[in-house]
Amino acid sequence: MRTEASPDYLNNRFNKEVEEQFNISADLLSQAIENADGVPYQLIFGTGIGDGYFLNMGFGAKQLFGISPGEFTEKLFQQMIEEIIPVSEDIPSDPFETREKIISGVIHKYNAELLVRTQDGEKKWIRDSSVPVIDDKTGKATGLLGIFFDISEHKQTLLELGKAMDRATESDRLKTAFLNNIPHEIRTPLNAIVGFSTLVNEPGQLMQSRLEFQEIITHSSDHLLEIVDDIVEISKIEAKIIRIINKEVNLNQMLQRVYDRFKPEAAEKNILLRYDAPMDEKEIIITTDGYKLFQSLNNLLSNAVKFTFDGKVEFGCSFKDDKIEFYVSDTGIGIGVEHQPNIFKPFYQAESSSTKRYEGTGLGLSIARAYIELLGGEIWFTSEPGKGSVFCFNIPGPGKNSNQP
Ligand code: ADP
Repeated sequence: MRTEASPDYLNNRFNKEVEEQFNISADLLSQAIENADGVPYQLIFGTGIGDGYFLNMGFGAKQLFGISPGEFTEKLFQQMIEEIIPVSEDIPSDPFETREKIISGVIHKYNAELLVRTQDGEKKWIRDSSVPVIDDKTGKATGLLGIFFDISEHKQTLLELGKAMDRATESDRLKTAFLNNIPHEIRTPLNAIVGFSTLVNEPGQLMQSRLEFQEIITHSSDHLLEIVDDIVEISKIEAKIIRIINKEVNLNQMLQRVYDRFKPEAAEKNILLRYDAPMDEKEIIITTDGYKLFQSLNNLLSNAVKFTFDGKVEFGCSFKDDKIEFYVSDTGIGIGVEHQPNIFKPFYQAESSSTKRYEGTGLGLSIARAYIELLGGEIWFTSEPGKGSVFCFNIPGPGKNSNQP
């Protein structure tokens, strides 16, 4: 006998089938998302950020955050977040403001990159993409439906790409700065050497003139050698093939040598040159690379004397905690704020090549900084245009062998 199915029965059956189909589709969707390395989630908001709870979280949560889906709470999640970078402009950087805007329906789509420290202590970049779940009655969002993606590899690639770009830009800048300045810097002493070598041999020159010419030739040859040495040195620094050769160094003797070297130039320019030795009467022996320390001081002194026309240049050192701190101060032209961030870059000079008044390669400070860092120290400075500059650096203090009290 054929029986007619009641409308209620049909309705129920239809609803059940729809529900089953829906569950199958939701499962399939979740599986597809998980296979694509994403972790789906549903977040139900609580009274504040961190009070909510997660539902229907993908199994990938364990691998991504080190927490299994059943234990994953909003509080734990918030504790893991170290940085949030909103991806679209309508998302505020303040998380509280963002949550308010999501709840009130202003934000329809949330996209952000999160730096998290997972339960295992590992740092990961996560992409959080979600949409608000709106309550039809109130029109307000009660939670989020979203996916977490691990984008750490992608972020790393971007970081490396950025570094490679920076390196390429820097090497381009180096090449341009080198070509703009060095040929001129080399040609000046070279012209002097060639010109005065011819003159010195000309018959009829007075003895006095010959001596003066010879002095110019010697000075120009030394200067040329310095330029070539600096170029070779900066190439070695860039190639990271500089070695430290530690030996015992008598600090006071070194300061005296630097003083002796610059005394004639300072006297010629009529500026006062003085230095402060730590504990005058004592021999202070430190173990360091004496050549690099001397050269660093030399480069700072060379600038101080070169850029000062009135007043004084002072240098010295003192013990600070477990370090020795050196200073070189001058009452010279100073360095404009616009140049200050760049002066340690190789070949950088505050003067443009077209209006250049001072000789120099723009290598002294970059070599000094590289040396000081190799010696385990740091370099810094303060400067005011028209008033002068103070360059300071430190290196590790005397070891057990030293005579420091
Ligand atoms: P160089 O002195 O050969 O040009 P440096 O690398 O030693 O190269 O210095 C870079 C630039 O920094 C200089 O060209 C100058 O513009 C600025 N500078 C460095 N030291 C001083 C100083 N004591 N006073 C004024 N300017 C300075």
